[in-house]
Amino acid sequence: MSGAESDPSNAERTPEPRADVCVIGAGPAGALAAYRLASEGHDVVILDAGPRFDPDSRIERMERAIRPAHPDPEVWDMGGERDAYSSGGERFYPLNSSRVKGIGGSTLHWQGMVMRNHEADFERRTRDGVAADWPIGYDDLRPYYADAEAELGVAGASDNPFAPPRNEPYPMPAFEPSYSDSLFAEACERLGVSMHSVPNARNSETYDGRGSCVGYGTCKPVCPSGAKYSADVHVRKAEAEGARVIDRAPVQALETDRSGRVATARYATPGGSEYRQAAREFVVACGGVETPRLLLLSESADHPDGLANSSGLVGRYFTEHLFCGAGGLLDAETRQNHVGFLTSECHQFYDDPGQATEGTGGSIPGSDADLGPIKLEFLNYAGPSPVELAMGAAEFGDDLLDSLQDAYGHNIAMGGLVGQLPRKENRVTLDTSRTDDHGNPVPDIHWSLDDRTRRTIRRANEIQHAILDELGVDVGWTVGPENTGPAFHHMGTTRMGADPAESVVNPRLRTHDVSNLSIASSSVFVTPGALNPTLTIAALSLKCAEHVDERL
Ligand SMILES: Cc1cc2nc3c(=O)[nH]c(=O)nc-3n(C[C@H](O)[C@H](O)[C@H](O)COP(=O)(O)OP(=O)(O)OC[C@H]3O[C@@H](n4cnc5c(N)ncnc54)[C@H](O)[C@@H]3O)c2cc1C
Ligand code: SF4
Repeated sequence: MSGAESDPSNAERTPEPRADVCVIGAGPAGALAAYRLASEGHDVVILDAGPRFDPDSRIERMERAIRPAHPDPEVWDMGGERDAYSSGGERFYPLNSSRVKGIGGSTLHWQGMVMRNHEADFERRTRDGVAADWPIGYDDLRPYYADAEAELGVAGASDNPFAPPRNEPYPMPAFEPSYSDSLFAEACERLGVSMHSVPNARNSETYDGRGSCVGYGTCKPVCPSGAKYSADVHVRKAEAEGARVIDRAPVQALETDRSGRVATARYATPGGSEYRQAAREFVVACGGVETPRLLLLSESADHPDGLANSSGLVGRYFTEHLFCGAGGLLDAETRQNHVGFLTSECHQFYDDPGQATEGTGGSIPGSDADLGPIKLEFLNYAGPSPVELAMGAAEFGDDLLDSLQDAYGHNIAMGGLVGQLPRKENRVTLDTSRTDDHGNPVPDIHWSLDDRTRRTIRRANEIQHAILDELGVDVGWTVGPENTGPAFHHMGTTRMGADPAESVVNPRLRTHDVSNLSIASSSVFVTPGALNPTLTIAALSLKCAEHVDERL
């Protein structure tokens, strides 16, 4: 790669002599907190484990992304000793597909769908009798959601009758529904299923100095134009407000003083040196896995079980969203893959997943089962590429050509998300038998699914099949409870709560145990809901920054 990112040894990585706040992690959570605190006039330093990628390298990365020789994690240089991990649970967890280390964090790679949680997501125990309630409700987060939408730049429409209440319009108009959405719309109307737009953190028009989407369709894992929001935007804004960024500086441990406050973050540099960054306040924003890992790595004589872990809950209640979907061939043109992101979805089965529907030409039967929320997605799915199909085919010549022509342009599919119940036994621990490039134990992810989640995935499949059948699709594949996989949204692991015995951070995102240590991350989620998490992460991060500002 070219430019600044190829020469790590030249950069100045000594600590900042005077810092009010040290933010660890430059994904959306860290970048937004750093930007907000720097804008308030505080001296902010940001440490990130990964490099600062040269924006000009995005074109080359797009080329890597569209060639099958390069799996997605490689596009942003994930893998190797730095990113070693173990997956010791019932199910394998593909950690390196679900994150990026570098300035911008995982939003360099993400899809960019951004929804507000529903009100019910904060009250799962009260409403369903399962899991736990959050110590804050939708109304507490509402102003921060609006703020986060303005910061990220969200294109959306207020056409979702199931969404929580909002007062303000989205910053940009929604993207037009895709052609295949219009096919789905007819089937959905006949069955009584509502479709609506997807709020997208990508520019539908010029916004915040970035141009509008030009339809490359490679959003995940890379948007070469910068129309898709990624958190390097706010890292640059933080720098413009005076923050200092130190890249390739993985924090090895947080060190406390006699009073139990964090005094320094000890970090490594590519040149082999170790430094200590002092600050008055520390914000850990390392994502759902590295956040608990860093706290566990920060064990000391004063904190033998890791930092901020008097509850014993650091690393526990790891949760994910599970993908569920189905697809096949349609005897009509679907004109797929003209849009690289989702334009329509359905929240109708979110708060009432068991409901029956009745449309103009059919119905979907109801279910009495105990179920969790379901988000349905209408995918802009083109199916496997003709080259991929040809390479794996058992036929040749005209027969092969006929098969390819039948499939090409006729694939169609639905997706969906289901959030699993938080379980104490699902957790991030340290695997002391393996070490990373700095000799630290790697994270070990223990992950399993509960019966309610499996049932809910089955219910999502039922609805998806009903819609695809109504559309006349010859369904060829289904992703159900047995072959599901994570949506790459790791959550839980340092949960929020009012009771220090039951949680790691308080409703102001500060750890119960350490008075100058806050956490901005999906790791504070109490329950996962079934909606993509990053807008909620961003809203919580802005709330966290407000509370840190109040303390400074
Ligand atoms: C393929 C994919 C698609 C996705 N699509 C969506 C979507 O459509 N909508 C959505 O809402 N979400 C999506 N996500 C999830 C989204 O990317 C994450 O929720 C979000 O990036 C998390 O933000 P964060 O700041 O908490 O963590 P991250 O973005 O993971 O950033 C953490 C940062 O911390 C740094 N770090 C880690 N450990 C240390 C350490 N010890 N010292 C210093 N720095 C450290 C890392 O280098 C990294 O830069 C997707 C994710 C993936 C992988
Ligand atoms: S479709 Fe739009 S957002 Fe996606 S990669 Fe292309 S320009 Fe970026």
